[in-house]
Amino acid sequence: MTNPFSTLTALPPDPLLGLMTAYREDNRAVKFDLGVGVYKSESGHTPVLRAVKKAEAMFLAKQDTKVYEGPRGNAEFCEAIERFVFGQNSLLIAAQRTVSFTAPGGCGALFLGANLMKRMGTKRVWVSDPTWPNHPKLVKALGLDTSSYRYAENGAYAQAAMIEDLSKASPGDGVIIQGPCHNPTGIDVPVEAWKQLGALCKERGLVPLLDIAYHGFAKGLEQDMAGVRAFIDTAGDVLISYSCSKNFGLYRERTGCLLATASNDRTVEATRTHLADIARGAYSMPPAHGAGIVATILNDSGLRAEWEEELNEMRNRMISLRTALSEALVAKTGSNALARLAQQNGMFSQLPLNAQQAAALRADSGVYLPGSGRINIAGLKVGDIPALSTILAGPLSA
Ligand code: PLP
Repeated sequence: MTNPFSTLTALPPDPLLGLMTAYREDNRAVKFDLGVGVYKSESGHTPVLRAVKKAEAMFLAKQDTKVYEGPRGNAEFCEAIERFVFGQNSLLIAAQRTVSFTAPGGCGALFLGANLMKRMGTKRVWVSDPTWPNHPKLVKALGLDTSSYRYAENGAYAQAAMIEDLSKASPGDGVIIQGPCHNPTGIDVPVEAWKQLGALCKERGLVPLLDIAYHGFAKGLEQDMAGVRAFIDTAGDVLISYSCSKNFGLYRERTGCLLATASNDRTVEATRTHLADIARGAYSMPPAHGAGIVATILNDSGLRAEWEEELNEMRNRMISLRTALSEALVAKTGSNALARLAQQNGMFSQLPLNAQQAAALRADSGVYLPGSGRINIAGLKVGDIPALSTILAGPLSA
């Protein structure tokens, strides 16, 4: 009898994790980690935010049970994230046309959203080209097909191409659109285009899932939601995944939220019961710790102000690194196209480099970035820019 376990063969290593290991093991004194997918401070560390440390202590001191919170998780957390996304004075919230569930990170929220699409009969989900590789991976793991829509050309948003491609989607198809700070390009959909995309989704009967993983990293908490809200205004029923991994620095706590808007009471109730059922059949109940920390911060004016200050620090650091890198690259390559880096948002941008050039940069100069050319701006230090821009200018001018 064949042992079923022996039918499994080891998968090739994850290229990004392999890159991180290779960086750690590189003994060169001067090396640059542009591959890592987390925010780092100027000292090269990913710190626990000060507001998080304080809120965590308060939350633990108050906690008197570890009993399950129920399928929705932390209600205060869900309500705070609803106010973030829909707005403090949202008519949708007032009309009780919103649904929200605590989820294990942004990925857990995407999992809930994609499963709900499947229950609506969705067979295919559209993702941007390029996108974060976990989008197609998660969709395919549910047995759904993926198609991609063009998203960016020459370092700028390609509105006409995106609309042309999504116009080929069939009714019932899902479409994942990233909120602020698109991963991997840093190129965001402008507010006016969000309106048009919402109208397109409604007109074609598509199921939109907006993925918000970097709220507050582009322009600010309110400004970053302007496009999402404009989309919701025109699209009608929408799914939204929200991650607290980056803006609260809660990565390992797996803290996220799946939100939905619904145009009538019947859909609100159906969405709520299906989401509870999907969670029950997968992980049963969401984790409580990270959501408890976020709720503590957002419901305490002092902690909230401290967190917003830390969020502003992170954003401003990324903006100054972007500006400095962009200016240095423009000066050293003579190419104005690289000025676009400074207009992009968040942690990531994509340099026009191919896999071969990325491999050569790593071997010859200790610059670690994936073959896609994606760089994590937040992995840099101000002092890295002169040497790094000189190295990158070679292949970028080729
Ligand atoms: N969506 C995008 C585009 C991301 O880049 C990430 C994290 O890198 C996530 C969602 C969700 O992350 P997490 O599951 O760690 O909250």
